[in-house]
Amino acid sequence: MWGKGCPNGHTGNLPFAGSADSLDGLQKNLLVIGDPIEHSLSPKIHSFVMEQLGVPYTYQSVQVKKGELAPFIDRVRSENIDGFNVTMPHKVDIIEYLDWIDAEAEYFNSVNTVKNDNGRLCGYSTDGEGFVRSMADVGVTPCDKKILFLGAGGVVNTLAQKLAMSGARKIVILNRTVETASNICDILSDRFSINCEFADLEFATIGEKIKTADIVINATPLGMVGVSNDWESCEFLKSAPGHALIADLIYNPRMTKLLSSGKKLGLKTLDGLGMLIYQALLADEVYLGRTFKFSEIARTLEGTL
Ligand code: NAP
Repeated sequence: MWGKGCPNGHTGNLPFAGSADSLDGLQKNLLVIGDPIEHSLSPKIHSFVMEQLGVPYTYQSVQVKKGELAPFIDRVRSENIDGFNVTMPHKVDIIEYLDWIDAEAEYFNSVNTVKNDNGRLCGYSTDGEGFVRSMADVGVTPCDKKILFLGAGGVVNTLAQKLAMSGARKIVILNRTVETASNICDILSDRFSINCEFADLEFATIGEKIKTADIVINATPLGMVGVSNDWESCEFLKSAPGHALIADLIYNPRMTKLLSSGKKLGLKTLDGLGMLIYQALLADEVYLGRTFKFSEIARTLEGTL
């Protein structure tokens, strides 16, 4: 069982190392794969970071359909691709093609970053740490918090475990398909000493569970551009404690109906762009094998997206 506690800073095993002057002349050939991929912000984000750091690079989006990872992996090896970002629907399926994955990625059963280390494909998950860092920007840490998830998809499996290992006190997961929420709760209970509950995503249930939540996280696509459904009502936010953080993982639009309703009630809010940016910056640290100062790059980048 993962030790409980409230660690300071980073809790994972990403390879943060190296010196600041080791990047000169270091060309990086990077890709992002997914399906759909045409609207991905990854090329813009990673290009910005490489340019800021003065690293010569190429970065391409590659549409890889579900079930078509094998020929893509052949391409990575034959073209000496240095690394690639992984998005839907490949975060789980990619694992069987890798030579090594780090401890957090193994826990989450999810990989969003692959580094080609001299032919050895190494997988990492930076989504959880990316979310934790985005929360830190609004002055919130998971430590000792009661967290309410709306939705129970792949990202909740990752974030719930990350928040549990970062010291969260209680996690409640509400989902349309209750069984999926129950499965994540089983994983949390097996691995962490944390109080975990699950239930359906009915308004009455949300209204009840939100009363004691410190952090509420929307991890459904309700309210996202291109999705026809939105929250019919956000009245349930009226039952949230005044100190609660309302987070939406959606970044397009940044101001969803859920967040604007929270703001009107005077609640602290967080959109999904910060997580998107931080998971990308963490991935770039993996590719480059060195750390760099995030705050300035993240702030400037946010203004360009
Ligand atoms: P996923 O695995 O497809 O899960 C989707 C979740 O949303 C499931 O719990 C699903 O419930 C629920 N859902 C879908 N349509 C619904 C509806 N009409 N009403 C109620 N619930 C509905 O997706 P995911 O990877 O977990 O991603 C979830 C959200 O997080 C997406 O909006 C995604 O864009 C966002 N995200 C953001 C970032 C970031 O960097 N900001 C990163 C990853 C994901 P069922 O189980 O009942 O189908």
